[in-house]
Amino acid sequence: MSFASLGLSEEIVRAVSERGYTEPTPIQAQAIPAVLSGGDLLAGAQTGTGKTAGFTLPILHRLSDKSIKGPSEGRPPVRALILTPTRELAAQVEESVREYGKYLKLNSMVMFGGVNINPQIARLRSRVDILVATPGRLLDHIGQRTLNLSQVEILVLDEADRMLDMGFIRDIKKILALLPKKRQNLLFSATFSDEIKILADNLLDNPAMIEVARRNATAELISQKIYLVDREKKRDLLAHLIKQHDWHQVLVFTRTKHGANRLAEQLDKGGIPALAIHGNKSQSARTKALKEFKDGSLQVLVATDIAARGIDIIELPHVVNYELPNVPEDYVHRIGRTGRAGSEGEAISLVCVDEHKLLKDIERVTKRELPKEIVPGFEPDLNAKPEPILNGQNRGQRQGHGRNPLRGANGNQAQPRTGQKPATAGGNRGASHRSGGRHR
Ligand code: AMP
Repeated sequence: MSFASLGLSEEIVRAVSERGYTEPTPIQAQAIPAVLSGGDLLAGAQTGTGKTAGFTLPILHRLSDKSIKGPSEGRPPVRALILTPTRELAAQVEESVREYGKYLKLNSMVMFGGVNINPQIARLRSRVDILVATPGRLLDHIGQRTLNLSQVEILVLDEADRMLDMGFIRDIKKILALLPKKRQNLLFSATFSDEIKILADNLLDNPAMIEVARRNATAELISQKIYLVDREKKRDLLAHLIKQHDWHQVLVFTRTKHGANRLAEQLDKGGIPALAIHGNKSQSARTKALKEFKDGSLQVLVATDIAARGIDIIELPHVVNYELPNVPEDYVHRIGRTGRAGSEGEAISLVCVDEHKLLKDIERVTKRELPKEIVPGFEPDLNAKPEPILNGQNRGQRQGHGRNPLRGANGNQAQPRTGQKPATAGGNRGASHRSGGRHR
């Protein structure tokens, strides 16, 4: 199947071929005709499936199609609004819009918080056909009356599950109230919780429904292992594991940008080539790190969750959670990056006493107890006291962290406690807000 056969214009097909795509991915093959038809869409797809082109290509086509009547009077208005949960994703999506639309006369803009609002206000004075935004900053502009959404024809909620997890539902509702009633709505989500279903029911009118398999739905293909270790010995253990097993192409996750930088520097000094990528790195530094990682010259890439999302590195042999994520679903996203076609991938987590509640949450979400091991020479101190994880989200939310699942361990094999009350659902979810700790 070709992109042209899906009904996309020659200009779009040209841009796509120059990008090097020869065939649509399954989500694109289904989403493109559905969006071109003008109807609403509910799509189950996560990063890595090609979902971005799945909605940007047909949006570009519709907005540039002269036979579809656009607004006739006054300054050209914003006609498509794409909402994303994070700055990084917004930037990537807008980059795609620009690239795929390079032969069209459409203008796009990206808008997110954490940066000076004035250049955005200035940019809004000129033409913006397609706006890619995070909800918080978008509402700031509405408050300042620098943005008018009354003529939006197409709305996309990208990674809607993530937006709800991040507590954006009220912002989304406020934004929906500013849009014209008659419009096309596209909702993309990797998971379908009850909350997402309610949102979809309220938002979508008789939507086409498509779903593509998760990249690695079968967590069974991924061998998962927990190494229990003291917080201070994590770095040495990681270096030991990499050297002992001669691992190449290891993607390591940390919780913070600072942690990513520090770890990459320390590994590198210790003779293991490593670089960090996160939101504070320039695009050229990120591109360089990724290129080296992909071509095998860089052994270790240290990333934060958000930096790794949407980046095209999948099917890795080794993923290491240097620190467990605050949100259990992030664990699933992280380990979904491993597993090469046919052969098993390996996901390792280094877990210290501070993280036992996070681990319980992950086991509850993944519905499996993860095997725990201790590496000789790196035995954790059974009397170690948990410390709060100092990261916006967690402060003041920590309950039940005092339990040490190592107590009662026999020999070297740690035995997780049984009969322990499961952690309450969604301990960290919804706790963050638009200026919260999610902007790592
Ligand atoms: P996404 O799921 O939209 O984040 O895309 C994941 C990756 O797949 C990105 O690096 C895209 O550049 C790439 N991609 C998207 N569509 C195609 C395609 N039809 N053929 C090959 N690669 C693609």
